[in-house]
Amino acid sequence: MAELKDIFTCTQCGYCCHGETTVSLDEDDQKRMIDALGLSREEVKEKYWRVTGNVVQMKIADGHCIFYDEGCTVHQGRPWRCAQWPLHPSMLGDENNFKTIKESCPGINQEISYKDFCRILTEIMDIQPKIHC
Ligand code: SF4
Ligand code: SF4
Repeated sequence: MAELKDIFTCTQCGYCCHGETTVSLDEDDQKRMIDALGLSREEVKEKYWRVTGNVVQMKIADGHCIFYDEGCTVHQGRPWRCAQWPLHPSMLGDENNFKTIKESCPGINQEISYKDFCRILTEIMDIQPKIHC
């Protein structure tokens, strides 16, 4: 049976947590993060979120997500897009997207063919629709 480690093992390189923006948090993400941090919504918003209109993102500190410190310090409360990364379903129909993501994420099996990658990811998603690494 296909296993996640056949296509991906996070190296904790931190690349995906760096940059000047972060993923946005939906309502479920916001609640999960508040619970994980054990703070009030207002405290979390004040300390950790960048709110632009209806868009809630995490603050950036020193060029990376405020929660990054040699790894994710809010692992249980991280947004679903962080949990899903880099196994985005869009790679299944777009080999160029697969190549782009593979180049930016050393955790993806660098030796695997696109065909095998798609087969295994499809099998895993059938078993576990919301992948959490
Ligand atoms: S929440 Fe965690 S996994 Fe997501 S960008 Fe921030 S540090 Fe990285
Ligand atoms: S998901 Fe990929 S880019 Fe992000 S820390 Fe893991 S190996 Fe690095």
